[in-house]
Amino acid sequence: MKHKKAISALLAAALCLTGISAQPFRQEVSVTASAVSISDLPADFQYATDWIWTNRIEREQSTARRNTIFDQVIAGKGTINYVVKWQSYQTVTYEQRQQFETMLSTCINAWNDWLAGYENWPYDHIDVNVTGWAVIDKNCLLDLHDNETVYTDTRYYDAQYDTTNGRDTIPDKEPYAPLELSRFEHFTDTNYEYPGGLDKRFDMYMWATQGFPDIGGCGGDWGQRLSDTAYLSMINGSGIHVLEHEIGHGFGMTDFYGGEGESDGFPPGGFPSGENSIMMAGSAAKITDFDGWMLRYMWTKIKDEPGRFDLANAAPDPVVSAVTGDVDANGVFEKRDIELLRDWLIAKPETVLNDWQAGDLFADGMLDARDLTLLKRLMFADEAEPVQPETRLLTALHSSRRIWQSTAPLCRHKAQRGLSCSMWISRTANMTMHQALKNCSGSHSARQMKTVRAIHLRAFLHSTAEHRKAVCIWTGRCSVIRPKKISLSTIKTR
Ligand SMILES: [Zn+2]
Repeated sequence: MKHKKAISALLAAALCLTGISAQPFRQEVSVTASAVSISDLPADFQYATDWIWTNRIEREQSTARRNTIFDQVIAGKGTINYVVKWQSYQTVTYEQRQQFETMLSTCINAWNDWLAGYENWPYDHIDVNVTGWAVIDKNCLLDLHDNETVYTDTRYYDAQYDTTNGRDTIPDKEPYAPLELSRFEHFTDTNYEYPGGLDKRFDMYMWATQGFPDIGGCGGDWGQRLSDTAYLSMINGSGIHVLEHEIGHGFGMTDFYGGEGESDGFPPGGFPSGENSIMMAGSAAKITDFDGWMLRYMWTKIKDEPGRFDLANAAPDPVVSAVTGDVDANGVFEKRDIELLRDWLIAKPETVLNDWQAGDLFADGMLDARDLTLLKRLMFADEAEPVQPETRLLTALHSSRRIWQSTAPLCRHKAQRGLSCSMWISRTANMTMHQALKNCSGSHSARQMKTVRAIHLRAFLHSTAEHRKAVCIWTGRCSVIRPKKISLSTIKTR
């Protein structure tokens, strides 16, 4: 069985990976805005990429099957759908379930950041969704929401060849989602119609097994399999590179267990750039520049295969939610939608609104702070104290979004002058906020004020001098901004 074969490979990886320390959850990848092509491949990467392509990928046919993540994303029009296969009796909260989706999106997009803007790869961002949970015990899903899909069918699972973590028994049941919704089962039939439509399909499993070794995993075009505990600690950013490695296999990347130049080994001379490769277990705890270029190289090699990628029909389908305020288009309007819109308005990186129109309550064809106000009013409609529209505050927030991008030069300027930029802005912002909130605190509950304060402070922290001046004029307290005279003890940053 293909899974079993993959698992034996995983166990070797498990041992190798133990020495790697946890990396921060996010890995920043710099991709230039202008179009990048294979002609931009760094010269010292050429030999190693050629060698890996010829001696490993092509020889092992690891991109031949038309179900790599490249294939999945394009067939899904810029989306990847997961079902979580929870082969575990550990409980999972609603919040954790949402965090898993975010984590999967982060990892998929850490790879996609290298493809964005490269040759004719169509997507700047992959919309990653968890469409359901396949479980061996439904009671493990705490606080189940109406919009969550749960599959409870199981089959017998024989764990006799698996290695365990020495503490838990691997369950003898394996949950699964309906085969008719699985791309893995149907990708060879390009005319296959998923019941309920493309959105209902799932591409891969996030497979969590109780009793599996704590570190290490296996991956392929069917998904990624790790221990339940490993996945849960990844929510907090621990060991995320292991999942990224397994996702690398989904693109068709190979392991590098063998020696230099060997048939299962790494390129003669090693990896250029001195950072090794996330695919050589134990050698790198992040997607290295070389890995990013290897992924691009692979896309260049396979993208023109006749009949493989339907780039003419690759554009994402517009997502429309029937539910007012449901900007993440998950079927319900909840607090998370407000948080998402707030994050989007302050241009928080990686914030994606699946259905921005659902948030356009002001109905003017655009999103701004007025929509956020109305959204909050909608959410808190049943509370005793009504929310007063704080127009001036929110207008300031709106303008901060538009000039957000000009923050960086200001920061560099201040840093060069030997004064910590963030400290300087924090001081200024806090003092202004103090005055601003005094002016409007009469009409808000403490909870509402906390939200407004958080939003505005975050916007302010990233705003420009020009914007701060505008806020000063609005508060009428320009004179309070004397950052150098504010003592550190008065500063309470979030
Ligand atoms: Zn591997």
